[in-house]
Amino acid sequence: MVERVAIVGAGPSGLAALRAFETARRAGADVPEVVCFEKQANWGGLWNYTWRTGLDEFGEPVHGSMYRYLWSNGPKECLEFADYGFEEHFGRPIPSYPPRAVLHDYIAGRVEKSGVKAYVRFSTPVRHVSFDEKTQTFQVTAKDLVADRHVTESFDVVIVANGHFSVPNVPAFPGIDKFPGRVLHAHDFRSADEFAGKNVLLVGSSYSAEDIGVQCYKYGARSITFSYRTRPMGFHWPDGFEEKPLLQKLSGRTATFKDGSTKEVDAIVLCTGYQHSFPFLPDELRLKTANRLYPLGLYKGIFWQDNPKLIYIGMQDQYYTFNMFDAQAWYARDVVLGRIALPSAEEQAADIAVWRAREEALENPFQQIDFQTDYVRDLLAATDYPHLDVDRVAELFKEWEHHKQEGILTYRDRSYPSTLTGTLAPVHHTPWIKALDDSLEAFLGVRQAAE
Ligand SMILES: Cc1cc2nc3c(=O)[nH]c(=O)nc-3n(C[C@H](O)[C@H](O)[C@H](O)COP(=O)(O)OP(=O)(O)OC[C@H]3O[C@@H](n4cnc5c(N)ncnc54)[C@H](O)[C@@H]3O)c2cc1C
Repeated sequence: MVERVAIVGAGPSGLAALRAFETARRAGADVPEVVCFEKQANWGGLWNYTWRTGLDEFGEPVHGSMYRYLWSNGPKECLEFADYGFEEHFGRPIPSYPPRAVLHDYIAGRVEKSGVKAYVRFSTPVRHVSFDEKTQTFQVTAKDLVADRHVTESFDVVIVANGHFSVPNVPAFPGIDKFPGRVLHAHDFRSADEFAGKNVLLVGSSYSAEDIGVQCYKYGARSITFSYRTRPMGFHWPDGFEEKPLLQKLSGRTATFKDGSTKEVDAIVLCTGYQHSFPFLPDELRLKTANRLYPLGLYKGIFWQDNPKLIYIGMQDQYYTFNMFDAQAWYARDVVLGRIALPSAEEQAADIAVWRAREEALENPFQQIDFQTDYVRDLLAATDYPHLDVDRVAELFKEWEHHKQEGILTYRDRSYPSTLTGTLAPVHHTPWIKALDDSLEAFLGVRQAAE
């Protein structure tokens, strides 16, 4: 019988787990005691913005990688919780691409209403987890940063939900040590304002490079140069943007690229990705993976193969986010509650192999969307999570891909229907490129109405 469950992290993944157990408890189920350890003083994970970089006030590595002026990079209709829609939270339909503060409000609103705050220990990072074979329990050591005290407690199940976009990959390039301008990783990027008037080089060709590049442009950078390792992003960039093959070296402010071309730059942002990092886990429990749609070692993408009492949520590469974390959390909960039985180790390994082989054959974003859709569908089919029309979500993701191709600076002005209510989102009062105020009040029109 599972009596105590520890959750590491109160970002969208950890909160999905909290919500899943609380939903069962309110429906009359006998659920275990749940304790959620959160390193930051508030919940919401990356969506909980911090101005800090480097180390925080306690000397802890800063978790946050989000920046001011960040707007959702996909339609909110694709991440909507099936048990708590945007219309329910805001009391009316809102546009499809909300800024960060609005999404944080939505994530937090759901858990505030479920009254689960009492289960969260804030400012309490987990330091160490070990498994005792004899008692079949985990020993979890965490530090209460405010009281400046370590505490060790026993748990039957541990859910790891500490995210994987927080510990940067930082490559070096010849001459970067003598570059006279600012060099930073995307993890430490906070405000595009400081790059106004500058020629900015972004190393990388994924979401971070794309979004930080268009942000810097929006807030007045003189030019944006992307440097890619494998292939260019290939969007229809406006004047002032260019894509170059990989950076080879820097001589003063001059960047030289693989095709021999050069560019004078004032600042460099390394958008070179993140590492899955679990400094609190011993080797035998620690997931080691790159950012993949189907990491190895996890049955259903959730259960640690060698010890399924260790559960990981949100470790996949992500098209789907909040509702995929819900699908994982509901499934994990039902295994913990004994509603779903795990198959034998051999069957688990065979299942993982099938998914992984399929993942390896994927050739483009559209196939990747279908793959993750099938993954989420598979999880949802086994639980009582409210109906989520994943086929419709997949269609919206594909429309979004097309809209990005049509206009990288205009796709956020589009509207999509909610898959829960069918309501078409209203058009935002200001085109995204001109919407410089990213506050919740400005987005919802409250400030405008008051003025
Ligand atoms: C710059 C950026 C932009 C993004 N934009 C979007 C977007 O527009 N739309 C979208 O859907 N997704 C976006 N994402 C993806 C993002 O990963 C998910 O939306 C979501 O935040 C993942 O939730 P999570 O709970 O798995 O991880 P996180 O949000 O990273 O939360 C993990 C939590 O664990 C805590 N934690 C870490 N270590 C410990 C420890 N040892 N002990 C206790 N607590 C710990 C952290 O403090 C944090 O609160 C973006 C990501 C980045 C980096």
